[in-house]
Amino acid sequence: MAERLIVVGGDAAGMAAASQARRRRDRDDLSIVAFEQGHFTSYSACGIPYWISGVVPDRDQLIARDPGTFRESFDIDVRLCHEVTGIDLDRREVVARDLAGGGEVREGFDTLMYATGAVPVKPAWARTDAAGVFGVQTLDDGAALLDWLEQEPRPRRAVVIGGGYIGVEMAEALIQRGLTVDLVEQSDQPMSTVDGDMGELVADSMREVGIHIRTGLTVTGLEERDGRVTAVVTAEGPMPADVVVLGLGVRPNTALAEAAGLPVGPSGGVRTDRRMRVPGVPGVWAAGDCVETLHRVSGLPVHIPLGTHANKQGRVAGINIGGGYATFPGVIGTAVTKVCDLEVGRTGLRERDAVAAGFEFVSVVAESTNRAGYYPGARKMTVKLIAERPSGRLLGAQIVGWSEAAKRIDTLAVALWNGMTVDDMTALDLGYAPPYAPVWDPVLIAARKAVDALAGAGR
Ligand SMILES: Cc1cc2nc3c(=O)[nH]c(=O)nc-3n(C[C@H](O)[C@H](O)[C@H](O)COP(=O)(O)OP(=O)(O)OC[C@H]3O[C@@H](n4cnc5c(N)ncnc54)[C@H](O)[C@@H]3O)c2cc1C
Repeated sequence: MAERLIVVGGDAAGMAAASQARRRRDRDDLSIVAFEQGHFTSYSACGIPYWISGVVPDRDQLIARDPGTFRESFDIDVRLCHEVTGIDLDRREVVARDLAGGGEVREGFDTLMYATGAVPVKPAWARTDAAGVFGVQTLDDGAALLDWLEQEPRPRRAVVIGGGYIGVEMAEALIQRGLTVDLVEQSDQPMSTVDGDMGELVADSMREVGIHIRTGLTVTGLEERDGRVTAVVTAEGPMPADVVVLGLGVRPNTALAEAAGLPVGPSGGVRTDRRMRVPGVPGVWAAGDCVETLHRVSGLPVHIPLGTHANKQGRVAGINIGGGYATFPGVIGTAVTKVCDLEVGRTGLRERDAVAAGFEFVSVVAESTNRAGYYPGARKMTVKLIAERPSGRLLGAQIVGWSEAAKRIDTLAVALWNGMTVDDMTALDLGYAPPYAPVWDPVLIAARKAVDALAGAGR
């Protein structure tokens, strides 16, 4: 009889695992059932801001593989609108509720893939039935927001709560749709994934495109009239709103896992080993936004919910479930985003992470341009490097600038991944031509500045 794999969660991590397992084992050897509580499989939540802004016109462009494709090409039995409500490790079965039909199903498993993603942080005041308040976690959320934006009379005033990258991307999307946009952030600047000085550059650019940024301000409630949101309440008074978007961050979705007794680590995510096995629980695997992972620079377990990790971890789990051998080596926190034309990239540790991890370090900020200064379109690029003292090993990097800024972080990510020092980096053979870089690339200029800072600090 075929072994039975049950997948809980039908997006990046879950379906990557299922597809990889199928590539290695046919249906007579492994039957695969995937439960997904929503209406879609393998969709790009990352694309939601660009669908809302209109840059991506059609929702279906965000769906990489639908259930039909999984059924026909991969022999995977996808059950949409099925919420898994319990995992019984002793009986080796899951219980799922059919959200469309209302019934309950029980399915036995030999192998379980836990890939439930993350859940948005929602303080008590955000748990409201008032119309006009939206998260942007799923395509259903995106569709509900779009419907609201397109109804008459058209909402005109938007408040985005939370200035992480999702809040920033949503503020951009709404301003591009012609709304007035306030972004409220309780810390000192938006984009807390970069240090304050770099976040300030992002804030300046957001103001330039017309986004009103309210930092150091905590939201305490929402006002509504006739069941519709009318304002966001803060210590400085109410801010009128026809539409509110919540971007308060996410936490690992571990409720089911914890109820079943799966181990959860200090960062709040399900613990796994390098092969994405849940330790001490034979036949159970986990991947994606619901797990914690090793930060290769700090050596600490972290929860960094990104699609890039979810896909890789799901792939690793699927190869192993399929009988192959693969490991996930941890992360360094590389991420990119943009606000209109301004691009932001980061990798490794911020100053505060380096302090928390106990490193001695220097940090430098170098300003140069994305192209040769005389070449049309040359614009400022700011590169920040954090290097260990005295070794000079790169610990972290951040870039803010216009075109060609964000993906330059990949050069720094590769250097960091491979333990390079800033001294080594000054000699990197990076490409140069006036349309693409000054003769000294911004990365090299920053590395030289870091070497000088280390010398000045007596190494
Ligand atoms: C607006 C937005 C923009 C983003 N932009 C980027 C980006 O630019 N770059 C990047 O790297 N990452 C980005 N991300 C993050 C990225 O989308 C996630 O890291 C990725 O989707 C995680 O994949 P996952 O499979 O672990 O979890 P998810 O994609 O959350 O999938 C988990 C699935 O499990 C289902 N599920 C949960 N519980 C149950 C249950 N009990 N029963 C059945 N089904 C269940 C959920 O419905 C969900 O479909 C963005 C996220 C958002 C929301």
